[in-house]
Amino acid sequence: MLTPRYYKMRRYYAVLGTSVFFVAIFSMYLLLDQAASGPGINSQLQEGELSVLEAKLQNLEESLAKNRDTINQIRDTVKSLAEGKNQPVVQMNQQPNQVNIHVPEHRDTAMDYGDAVKYNGVAASVDKDECTFGDTPSGTSADVKMLDVFDLVKFDNPDGGSWKQGFEITYNTQQWEREPLQVFLVPHSHNDPGWIKTFEVYFRDQTQHILNNAVVKLLEDRKRRFIWAEISYFSRWWEAIDMAKKKQVIELISRGQLEIVSGGWVMPDEANTHYYAMLDQMIEGHTWLDAHLGVKPRSGWAIDPFGHSPTMAYLSERAGINAILIQRVHYSIKKYLASVKKLEFMWRQNWDHGSSTDMFCHMMPFYSYDVPHTCGPDPRVCCQFDFKRLPGGRVSCPWKLPPVPITDTNVASKAEILLDQYRKKSQLYKTNVLLIPLGDDFRYDKIIEWDQQFSNYGKLFDYMNSNPRMNVKAQFGTLSEYFDAVWRSTGSEPGSKPNGFPTLGGDFFTYSDREDHYWSGYFTSRPFYKNLDRVLESNLRAAEIVYSLAMATAKRHTIPGFNGLTEMERLVKARRQMGLFQHHDGITGTGKDVVVIDYGQRMLEGINEAKRVIRNSAQFLMMTQKDNYKEEVVFFDLDEKRASHDAMSEKTVISLSDQPTKVVIINSLAQERQEMVLLLVSSSNVEVMDWQGNIVTSQSNLVWTGSDSSLETFFELVFVAELPGLGMRTYSIRDLGTHESPEHSQSRVTILNAGEQDTLVRGSFHVFKESNAYGDFSIENAFISAEFTGTNGLLKSITTKADSKRTSISLDFVMYGTRNTKDKSGAYLFLPDGEAKTITEGLKPVIRLIRGRLLSEVHVTFDHVFHCVRLAKSPGADGTALEISNIVDIRSQKNKEIVMRIKTDIQNIDKSFYTDLNGFQIQRRKTLSKLPLQANVYPMPAMSYIEDGMSRLTLHTAQALGVASLQTGWLDVFLDRKLEQDDNRGLQQGVKDNKRTPNLFKLLLERRGADATQTTSTVPTGYPSLLSHTVSQTLNNPLITLPTLMDADIVTEFAPLTQQLSCDVHLLNLRHLHDMREGESVPGDGALLLLHRLGFDCKYPATTLTCSTNQGQVTLGDLFTEDNVQIEEATVTSLTMMYEKGQVQLSEALYIEPMEIKAYRLKFH
Ligand SMILES: [Zn+2]
Repeated sequence: MLTPRYYKMRRYYAVLGTSVFFVAIFSMYLLLDQAASGPGINSQLQEGELSVLEAKLQNLEESLAKNRDTINQIRDTVKSLAEGKNQPVVQMNQQPNQVNIHVPEHRDTAMDYGDAVKYNGVAASVDKDECTFGDTPSGTSADVKMLDVFDLVKFDNPDGGSWKQGFEITYNTQQWEREPLQVFLVPHSHNDPGWIKTFEVYFRDQTQHILNNAVVKLLEDRKRRFIWAEISYFSRWWEAIDMAKKKQVIELISRGQLEIVSGGWVMPDEANTHYYAMLDQMIEGHTWLDAHLGVKPRSGWAIDPFGHSPTMAYLSERAGINAILIQRVHYSIKKYLASVKKLEFMWRQNWDHGSSTDMFCHMMPFYSYDVPHTCGPDPRVCCQFDFKRLPGGRVSCPWKLPPVPITDTNVASKAEILLDQYRKKSQLYKTNVLLIPLGDDFRYDKIIEWDQQFSNYGKLFDYMNSNPRMNVKAQFGTLSEYFDAVWRSTGSEPGSKPNGFPTLGGDFFTYSDREDHYWSGYFTSRPFYKNLDRVLESNLRAAEIVYSLAMATAKRHTIPGFNGLTEMERLVKARRQMGLFQHHDGITGTGKDVVVIDYGQRMLEGINEAKRVIRNSAQFLMMTQKDNYKEEVVFFDLDEKRASHDAMSEKTVISLSDQPTKVVIINSLAQERQEMVLLLVSSSNVEVMDWQGNIVTSQSNLVWTGSDSSLETFFELVFVAELPGLGMRTYSIRDLGTHESPEHSQSRVTILNAGEQDTLVRGSFHVFKESNAYGDFSIENAFISAEFTGTNGLLKSITTKADSKRTSISLDFVMYGTRNTKDKSGAYLFLPDGEAKTITEGLKPVIRLIRGRLLSEVHVTFDHVFHCVRLAKSPGADGTALEISNIVDIRSQKNKEIVMRIKTDIQNIDKSFYTDLNGFQIQRRKTLSKLPLQANVYPMPAMSYIEDGMSRLTLHTAQALGVASLQTGWLDVFLDRKLEQDDNRGLQQGVKDNKRTPNLFKLLLERRGADATQTTSTVPTGYPSLLSHTVSQTLNNPLITLPTLMDADIVTEFAPLTQQLSCDVHLLNLRHLHDMREGESVPGDGALLLLHRLGFDCKYPATTLTCSTNQGQVTLGDLFTEDNVQIEEATVTSLTMMYEKGQVQLSEALYIEPMEIKAYRLKFH
């Protein structure tokens, strides 16, 4: 609805606008004059361009009457002034009189439309005190700093003898005379929830038998033990077993014979996973365990993830886990830590200024978690103690020394041999307590194996224990029994730091298991699904939040219509499909093709279920008459659809008429957002109204089907939406038919290198084809100007307008091949054939240059990449960064890996660069010349940056990929890999199921404040700026747009927060809590609120942010507007709700320390 006030102002602006316009023309003349005479003018403004400018002016004069856009723009400015939005004037280098000119029907590449949307100088207000955390160097207090270890270790791989990657271990037998060696043999079975077989097929063929057998064989003897990690399988099995067996399971757990370790839905990958999903799968597992078994896992078990992240240690610590175990660490690092007896340490977060995050960690010392590599240093010996490999079975020992059954005659000698291995292994640790895992992948599926292991070890242990000369006490144990014994032996409390144990800071990437075989390929393998996973994550997160708000609102107003059972079941499905994919053969891209398809289908189901929850919950929240809500009456469409799991998403096309069609836009972040919205609509001449009835500036673009062909049935529509934290607003769009709106404009398209000179008319669009390139060109907004090379259309530099400084940033696509030797790259390994080669050299691709008042784009098509760079003229955070999206297609290639390379003149010292760990924290990296190229590639789940004394360039990503910085000023990001062969890590196939794969990035160039000094290169961590955090969060949690299918009676706005949260408090989740009623889950009246206080770097300004910071304070009672959501009570809990830590006074301000995640169980009134 247009308000009368609006009409009145409109007339006023028209008059004012016209007069200002003449002034504008005059000042253009002045500018031109200066340019022609002044020697100091930008060298880019060459004479040729001046004549273009001149021609333009002429044209402008001729089309004076038509030139409404300029008027509109001036009117916008006046309007915002009239509305009191006259914030401190921009510090951008705009001349007061400079006007941006819209020349709709003239071919033009040299000029952009300029700043259709003005930046009004907004920036977050940050108190100086709040900079202390980010400014204080941390990560230096740990005894063992992983960056130093990387400097120290030679990585020379000499032959270590029987322990090939280690050293000869000797011992003195007297050391056990006073205190015997205490051995815990821990039977385990590693069950991948999908790898060679799918989850269901593994369950059917192996896992159910393993668990069934465990119950039978454990009940036979109280001395027996078994541990289990993956709750996806355990819960699947639980559903299938009868009551009697369930009781037996609970009995075994209470006796301590069966221990649940970690207790996550899966054993997640730690490289590619985002902490949102890492934590969510942990919550899903822990809450399942609590509801069905009353179990709280105490120890973490991660024997197979391909490298380890401190984020996992942090989440485990704050979930209430006492100790964790890790295995896949670079063999040279293991050897070093073993040599100084530091394989057990307190793992400290690099950002921790104290010691509160310290997590007891046990690192296994040898090559693998199988039996040959767990009993001691010599696999030839240890293999003989894997009694599944007794002759006649299906597995044997590759060292040709098979096990023999233990008998009265051989027990003495065999015990002696085994004890020697135990004793050697124990020399690598500080205590007299020794952990010996006994298991492998999908072990114990047959009864005979249980008997083989338990009876033979039973005989060995009976002999050892009854022989005082041996000074050993050996027993079957669980993981927690081992850890408890370690603490007992050191006289320390469970979970605490035993005296003399070291602290360690850092991470364990990039993993190598032998030679120069680095596992950096999986940071990128199957990138299509890494991207799909992030789509699922953002949809699930939004679904949780919107559904929790809907349930709270329904409760608040006692509306029975929205009971939410269907939605709750959908949420649970989506959670579990997402959780499953976090598995270390899921998101890693290391499963068989058939398994990848299974994950894909599951994720698509998860996405669709989450979208339905969002749609239905939003519908309820936006209905004017909420009492009328009926589950079966749906009046929102979904925002996008996918034809199949391996297809790219297709946005819903909104069919318009002359009557307004409503679109609801949802912001799942707890901060306000001003952001460009992109929709597909049936008309290219439209009018967009915001929730208050004001017409907003909009732009139409063509939808391209080929280099110069486009659709005529629907078009892209862009406009800037403004949304409250966690809120929704209704925007309306109508087809204007033949009418014109001053607020709407069409983009202008120039196709360069088109081979011919031509002007195409596409409806109301003009497409200018230029036979050749036009020379270098730029697109710009109020914040930056991005300059491109005219011949190939690739980014060349970025100029920040606040300081007029230009940074050379040139983009290219390069390719790696694989080695010509026996060992080649595969799903896990990256083994390149040398340095990458450019694939764009000498090419003159067709370039599409699209300029508009709100959005400008550059499209370039190369053989294997469609490359799009986009700059939004948005006053929000999205205006500060360049958006880069590619569609990669290397299906025609063999043994190739494609990389997007960004070369800059940023002088990063020591080739230091920064990558995130799980989107949670930043780790400094150093490209080391002593290591092969593939070792210098690191995981990038969320961002990577390089910086020098003046600038920081951050590449934000919307999917996990591998990244490297091989030369000073470079950032390489791996986009896809097609590999013909297996790389001998068990998968037994190459990676050839490539697809057309989308990827999405935001490139943010930031300048340091004047008082900032160069960071010291000894600090192992870093922090994104508040702006960078916002860019990352908006990229990973895009706005959701729900078009209405009918004329719906909906409200204009839902704004549940009393005010937006502080800039540095991220609402990680508002996760619905269900109740248990008679063993069944039913929708509850609460939610788990997860708040993460971000650590940030103050040196870079928080441009565009309307939020502020307040020492991490949150008052739960003041969080929500009472009309929508009322909290009845709140409890602080551990991260997965295993432990309650006391009631929260709702009126009291809670203080969250930087980097911490806090969990609050809320009950709604
Ligand atoms: Zn595994």
